[in-house]
This record gives sequence, C-alpha cells and structure tokens, in this order.
Amino acid sequence: MDPVGVAAAPAPAEAGPGPAWPRKCPWGAAKGAPLSCSLADVMSEQLAKELQLEEESAAFPAAAAVAEGPFVTGENIDTSSDLMLAQMLQMEFDREYDAQLRREEKKFNGDSKVSISFENYRKVHPFDSDSSEDEVDWQDTRHDPYRADKPTTTPKKGFIGKGKDITTKHDEVVCGRKNTARMENFAPEFQVGDGIGMDLKLSNQVFNALKQHAYSEERRSARLHEKKEHSTAEKAVDPKTRLLLYKMVNSGMLETITGCISTGKESVVFHAYGGKSTNEEDKVIPPECAIKVFKTTLNEFKNRDKYIKDDYRFKDRFSKLNPRKIIRMWAEKEMHNLTRMQNAGIPCPQVVILKKHVLVMSFIGQDQAPAPKLKDVKLSSEDMKKAYYQVLHMMQQLYKECNLVHADLSEYNMLWHEGKVWLIDVSQSVEPTHPHGLEFLFRDCRNVSQFFQKGGVTEALNERELFNAVSNLNITADTEVDFQAEIEALEKMNEDHVQKHGKKASAFPGDGDPPVCGE
Ligand code: ADP
Ligand code: MN
Repeated sequence: MDPVGVAAAPAPAEAGPGPAWPRKCPWGAAKGAPLSCSLADVMSEQLAKELQLEEESAAFPAAAAVAEGPFVTGENIDTSSDLMLAQMLQMEFDREYDAQLRREEKKFNGDSKVSISFENYRKVHPFDSDSSEDEVDWQDTRHDPYRADKPTTTPKKGFIGKGKDITTKHDEVVCGRKNTARMENFAPEFQVGDGIGMDLKLSNQVFNALKQHAYSEERRSARLHEKKEHSTAEKAVDPKTRLLLYKMVNSGMLETITGCISTGKESVVFHAYGGKSTNEEDKVIPPECAIKVFKTTLNEFKNRDKYIKDDYRFKDRFSKLNPRKIIRMWAEKEMHNLTRMQNAGIPCPQVVILKKHVLVMSFIGQDQAPAPKLKDVKLSSEDMKKAYYQVLHMMQQLYKECNLVHADLSEYNMLWHEGKVWLIDVSQSVEPTHPHGLEFLFRDCRNVSQFFQKGGVTEALNERELFNAVSNLNITADTEVDFQAEIEALEKMNEDHVQKHGKKASAFPGDGDPPVCGE
C-alpha cells in the first residue's frame, strides 16, 4: 500500500508505512549508559555550549563554569545533549511520518462513505502531539465509528416474545451480540478491534476467555503504568517538557535552570536565572524566575474539573478539548489571573511567558531560596497582625477589582517576602459568579480566619464576618449551617438568572461585577 508519493518523503519511504516500521527510536537510550535525566539534562547543553565558548576564547578557566551549576557533572555532558538532540530529531521525524500517513489516509479514503483510519499507525499519538496542527481539534472532525447500541436487555422473566417466537436470555444470537457489546467494558487499552460496531456474535466460552485475558492485561498494564509514573517523578518532567525548557534556555530567555523548588500533585516548580529578552516587545526578564510546569499526567486533574468546567470564561472551549489541552488551559488560567492581580497591585508573581503547559513568572524569594510560606514562617505578633490586615485587603481587592475568588487560599499559598504577603497558585481561581464561587470564597475565609486567629491575631474577623467584609453580601445568618445555606441559595439564584438570561447575569450591576444580595 503505497499509492501516493510516499517516495517523496525521504525517511519513511524505505520502511513503508504501518507497523512494520521499527517502534523503537533508533538512537534510543544507549544500552548500559545510565542516563541521568534530571535537570542536568536541560542544563548540560547550555553548559556544554558555555564550556565550548570559553575554550575557544580561552578567556576564563573552564572550571569556573562547572562550579556554576550545582546539578551539572562533567561526565554526562555529551550523553545528555546527544539524547536531547536525538529526541528532537526523533520527534521531527515522527511528525513527518504522521503527516505523510495523514496524506495517504486521505487519498486512500477519498470521499468514500466508509473510511479506514490509519490512526493506530501513527508515531505521535494525537494526545501527545505537540505539533501546531494539534491546534485544529482532531476530536471535532472525527466521528466515533465504534459506538454500539446498548444490548437489548431481556426482562426479569427471562424471555421476550410470544408463542413460537419466544426468545430467552440464553438465546445464542442474543447472547452473542450481548457479549460482543460487553467488550466495550474492557479497559480502553485492550484492543478489541472494530467488532463492536458489527453484528458479531461471540459465544459465551470465547467471551469469558477474552474477559479473563482483558482483566489480566489490565492488571499488567497498571503495573507497567506505575513504573512509568515512578520514573517520570524521578526525571521531574517528561521529555517534551524538557525540550520546551531546553528551548527557553537555548533562546537565551533563561540563563540557567538551577533546580526544582517544589513537586506537587499538579505541578512542578523550578527556579531559573533570567536571561535576555528574546525580541518579544523588549519585555524585561526578571533576574530570577519560577517555572511552573503543569503536570500532563491527567489523573490529578480530574477532580479539579469543576473549577474550570463551570467557569463561563472557559465553558465553550472546555467541551471541545482533549485532556492535554485542558491542562494547557490551567496554565493559561493562572496566567490570566496573575495578570489581573498584577494590574490591581496585589503582590504576586509577574508573568514572564506562557508556553503550552509551562508558565514562567518572576521568582518570589532570593538567591534560589523561595520565600517561605506563611505556614512555615515564625512572625512576630506585630508582623502577624500586619499580615492579617494585608490579607484582608488583598481578598477585597481580589474580589472587587479583579473579580476573582482565589479558591485555594491558605497559609500554604501565601509567601512571606520583603515584609509582606504574596499570593501565589491561582490556576483554580474563579469569578464570584461561578456556580460555586461563593462557596469557594467561604472556604478561603475559613482558612484565613482560622490561621490568623490561631496565630494570635485577636482582631481577626471570624469566617462569616470575613466573608461579608470581602463580598459586601451582608449575610446575617448566625450559625455556620444557615450561613452556608444562604450562600448556596444565592448561587442558585444566580444560576437561575444565568439560565434565563444567557451567559452573564444582568442582575449584577456592571459587566461581570460580583453578585449583590437581595436582587
Ligand atoms: P501547587 O499547585 O503545586 O501548590 P504552587 O503554585 O503553589 O503549585 O507552587 C508550589 C510551590 O512552589 C509553592 O508553595 C512555592 O513554594 C513555590 N513557588 C511557586 N511559585 C513561586 C514563585 N513565583 N516564586 C517562588 N516560589 C514559588
Ligand atoms: Mn500551592
């Protein structure tokens, strides 16, 4: 099957399309050579270049450069930069291969009603694809050919029909069809072919054997997956992210990436020294930067859907996105929210650049040492009081001027730096009119109020007073339960309004203003 000008494409032509092509990267990790894939990989290319430059100019002793990077050792310079290069080449090659495959697929299918997908032969899976073609959403343009009708169930009595036409649940044909349809319940990785869409009848025996096999496969793949996860944690970031970081260093935008500050469930944060701005509007790169890499492993993000799914700013886009893009949206959200806060003058990191799921911002701290979180710093009672009033003020600014609720505000996401509190971690922040916005605000108030009350600030408002002081909603309920019920009632009222009048609630004064009570 080589109907189109495959020969035109240099590399794939020799091997031909399809699975016959060797799956492993020809330059893949050399056997035996233990590749350290830590940050050193990102940095070593940079270091190698520096070393080379220095050798050439002979202006500085090479040893000086080695001392610079705490993670860099002399021995892995060559292997890691080779690995990086190989990965770049491989990715480039895979993309060309896929593009060719796509052209072939198109030609092959023409405008025939029945089409054959070459999907499974692709090198770069659509979810993994970093190419710009990825921006055109492939999910939208593909129908799902495998959707089987739900098997007709046999009623409790165990048969359907009348007289001679009685069909029992043991009927061979019904059973066979049912079994075929049930294959859908196997793990998604389990290849069942396209039998589901056809009128296949599987005998019970075959089905049961298949089921057994599917389950053991699932367990096996879970084990493999676990291993993979583990090694990803070791490497801190996946190869594609490393490539992105590498490019930032290579372009000179970042001087060096020195190390990892934090590995959370949803993100990894690195410290970097800023470089020179790369032609983009002469933006000044801060001397020290924090790089927040949103994790592209999806599991942890599932339970955060509610923050973004109901956010009308992202609503229209959400349903059309694949998981990889949803993660990019988190990064994008954090960027937008930080910008709003910056504009309101709230102390927070300043956005430097956003590339896919990687957000570069100014570093809060000094000399690679991040500012301590409020939970870790021991403040004098005077500073504690000062911090409290500042946080109260920032919450009000956030609500009124930025039209935002932090939604994860606590002593964990407030840093103490230069004698004041800095707010960070705003990827989950929402507008107050978000269906759960006021509940999130109440939770924030509870955290803040409890922290400062325990910290000995006698002036600190309790959570309900704080909620009213921030939102001006003047909810009068004096028990926690009633208060929460009123919050939920307000949210419901707002939702009803949105339902009736479209996206924006006109009951709220101004465009996108926070809700007001008593409408
Ligand atoms: P997560 O979702 O993992 O909590 P955060 O944005 O809170 O992500 O970042 C995790 C940690 O990284 C923070 O607690 C803080 O210590 C550090 N950090 C994040 N951003 C910055 C920054 N701009 N400057 C200094 N440290 C930062
Ligand atoms: Mn955090």
